[in-house]
Amino acid sequence: MKKKGLRKKLLVVSVFALALSVVLTACGAKEEASNPVEASNKKLKVVTTIAQIAEPLSVIGGDRIQVESLMGPGVDPHTYNASQGDIQKLESGDMIFYSGLHLEANMVRVFDEISKKKPVVAISESISKDKLLQDENGTTDPHVWFDIDLWKESINTATEELKKANAENADFFESNKVKYFEDLDKLKAEATAKINEIPKEQRVLVTAHDAFGYFGRMLDIEVVGLQGLSTEDEIGLSDIEDTIKTLVQYEVPAVFIESSVNPASINAVIEGAKKEGLDVQLGGELFSDAMGEAGSKEGTYLGMYRHNVETIYHALNK
Ligand SMILES: [Zn+2]
Repeated sequence: MKKKGLRKKLLVVSVFALALSVVLTACGAKEEASNPVEASNKKLKVVTTIAQIAEPLSVIGGDRIQVESLMGPGVDPHTYNASQGDIQKLESGDMIFYSGLHLEANMVRVFDEISKKKPVVAISESISKDKLLQDENGTTDPHVWFDIDLWKESINTATEELKKANAENADFFESNKVKYFEDLDKLKAEATAKINEIPKEQRVLVTAHDAFGYFGRMLDIEVVGLQGLSTEDEIGLSDIEDTIKTLVQYEVPAVFIESSVNPASINAVIEGAKKEGLDVQLGGELFSDAMGEAGSKEGTYLGMYRHNVETIYHALNK
């Protein structure tokens, strides 16, 4: 009797399991039928803030991901606010990457909201604090892409996220990353050699805001930003006067504007230096917080970096 009862129970359980599996299979089949792309070759959709993140990831992700940056050429990330269209892009992405360290200061609330639904990663916040620069007020310098080794760390963090989300393409992403990092190592060697050709006492880089701290540390060049680490910092008459004093003291031949910053303050410095009898040239336009047009050389991280090194070299190596 006891045995029979058990068999009956087993039968009930197995009928239930069968029914459940039929239901589950039906659900799965339905999902597949309504979403055939997802089952076969749906690309991972990645949305980034700055193009310094998006473009390297487009190289590493190749045809397996779709990547879009919200901030195009000439756009200043410090003061950027997400538009309605940006919110839609962020909503439709599978994962979001931003640099962090307070670079995209006005977008943090939006990211907090979106992170409840999908991975949202501040890729530069994975860098250990002792490698980061701080200003005299203890504010961390967010312009880490100018230290090529640190940017490799940030891009590596993003690549690990891609591998997690898309395990079947993990090897593909990894081998593309390794190749790309070799190009970055070559870029570092090339930039170091070029800047080293400028006599040490002429290596003074004056720009509109303090975006080149990591560049200066890596390439052994003194940097002076008229504005602080953010373009939201105040710029006073004394900043302009102090900069002119530095120019006169070191006989700096040229100063630089930045593609994402109003050139007025740099022009004021050039005018002011002239009054002091120093003929300071405009050395050219550097890409600091934004890159060039997508599809152009300067629209790539490597091309943007080379442009800056070449521009600085030609203006200061006099
Ligand atoms: Zn900046």
